[in-house]
Amino acid sequence: MQLNSIRFGLNTFFVSILWVLSGLTLAAEKLPSVLLLNSYHAQYQWTAEITRGVQDTIETVLPAESLHVEFMDTRRYIDDQEYYQKLLDLLAHKYQLIPPDLIITSDDNAYYFLMEHGDSLFPNKPIIFCGVNVFNPETLVGKENVTGIQEGMAIEGNLQLIQALQPEVKRVIMLGDSTGLGSRMVEKAKSIQARWRDGEVNKMSLEIWDDFTFDELLKNASQADSETAFLVLAIHKDSKGKYFSYLRDLPLLAQASAVPVYGMWGTLMLGSGVLGGLMNNPYLHGQNVAGMALDVLSGTPISDLPVLPSAEFRPYFDHVQLTKFDISTERLPKNSTLIGKPESLYGEHSGLINSVLFLIFFLIVVISQLIVNVRQKAFAQVKLRQFNAELEYKVSQRTKDLDERNQQLEAASLKMEELAYTDTLTGMANRRAGVKEVKAYIQRASTKYSPIVIAILDIDHFKQVNDTYGHQVGDEVLCDVATFLRNCLRPSDRVYRWGGEEFLIMLPGADASLAMDVCQRLREGVSGINFLNAGQVTVSIGLTEFKTDDSYDSIIQRADESLYLAKERGRDRVIIDSQEVA
Ligand code: GH3
Ligand code: MG
Ligand code: MG
Repeated sequence: MQLNSIRFGLNTFFVSILWVLSGLTLAAEKLPSVLLLNSYHAQYQWTAEITRGVQDTIETVLPAESLHVEFMDTRRYIDDQEYYQKLLDLLAHKYQLIPPDLIITSDDNAYYFLMEHGDSLFPNKPIIFCGVNVFNPETLVGKENVTGIQEGMAIEGNLQLIQALQPEVKRVIMLGDSTGLGSRMVEKAKSIQARWRDGEVNKMSLEIWDDFTFDELLKNASQADSETAFLVLAIHKDSKGKYFSYLRDLPLLAQASAVPVYGMWGTLMLGSGVLGGLMNNPYLHGQNVAGMALDVLSGTPISDLPVLPSAEFRPYFDHVQLTKFDISTERLPKNSTLIGKPESLYGEHSGLINSVLFLIFFLIVVISQLIVNVRQKAFAQVKLRQFNAELEYKVSQRTKDLDERNQQLEAASLKMEELAYTDTLTGMANRRAGVKEVKAYIQRASTKYSPIVIAILDIDHFKQVNDTYGHQVGDEVLCDVATFLRNCLRPSDRVYRWGGEEFLIMLPGADASLAMDVCQRLREGVSGINFLNAGQVTVSIGLTEFKTDDSYDSIIQRADESLYLAKERGRDRVIIDSQEVA
């Protein structure tokens, strides 16, 4: 079968090339034509399937009209000799005008008809047969242009199948008739019957019925006991000449029968109530014979294509019938084909169920992913909150540290500033502070006049104090003078250590006379102090009053000049702008 398929494929290719080449070179030249001569009629399912197989195969290579199909209709006109003669005349007439390049025959009658009339109808044309159940090799003697595929039959194979499937069956009734294929199969059945009866005791008893009316058959079948089975060989007519239709009558027989009916003619029988059997497939048979025909058309000599002995018979069963007769499918041969099996809910709606399952799976994946995402998000949010809290804590700690540092810096800075403006010996404001504050007061007094008096106080002959009592004592005197000055002045008055033993006094809001009083009081106060280790000291004071056009320098300079005059005029006195204060 496989070799056949390969050869068929190759030759399909060669015929295609031939056809294309012929199309290119001689467009008008005739393409090969094939005649399919069927034994039976077009509506006979067996013949229809063979024809379909042949057509489908030929049409892969040649145009559809290259195939001519004839139906001899000999199932219905099997004994009509006049009909045969007229058919012969008709075919002769038709194909004299359009002779085919090759003839395919299907089934026994067409084959034997051409073996008799082929030389006159289609001289020297190759003939490929199929569907011949009872093949007589002698018919090929002297015919070098004939080959084909025997259909064969599977009577004994089916008997063995029944035995294996229904061990309880003791009697098989084989149904045939007395005409054509029916009679030839009955003959074959008889030889098997004889062999089984003579040889093997344990085998089932075989009966052959070939002489019954259809009604008798139905009646007998309905009364058959459970140890009986029927095997249909081939029935064309009943004993009254009534045409037996597989399509119409086989279902009636199967319906009426109390026991299973087996058969071997594939699609013709399956689904008609027959339980099953080793069956052939007419469509495949048609394809195979057409493949051989294409081989020949592509140039393969017929002598290279020997007659193939048999079509393939395979086990086919009808699930409905197996159920009806309570035969388990487990008993069927492994390679069986089962028809009519009710599809499971899944089998019936597999597409829809698969789609729904896929959708559910898809949704589960999506939902799972969403749940994972939500959880991850929640986890991330918790982590983020923790992180933020930690960060806030750290920032607040840092801020606190920074605040503390800033406060420390500010304090240090204030301290530095304080130190920068403080005299280390006396603890009072120093000259830098004095310059800054005097300038500020002068500035303010310049824009909006307010009275200010500046006085510079210098200890007289202080060098002698140092020289006499030592520097340490000098320091004590300086400190004591400073304390005295601070205690004597108002809180709004200012006093600075201006130099070594000099003090600058600023009296905001004081006029000259008040200032002179203050300075006299200071001078007298100092001179009245009895310093612990140094005894008494005197001071000279030069003072001056602020004038509207004064600058810092000018007012300081006048105070200095007054002090100078005080020294010059003998010390221990107060001078204001060259005038001595009494
Ligand atoms: P005059 O009456 O002209 O002002 O004479 P005087 O000696 O006071 O003035 P002079 O300028 O000649 O000397 C000032 C002295 O003051 C010299 C210096 O040693 C002393 N002196 C300056 N600063 C300090 C100080 O911080 N401590 C001590 N113990 N002595 C100082
Ligand atoms: Mg001095
Ligand atoms: Mg002095």
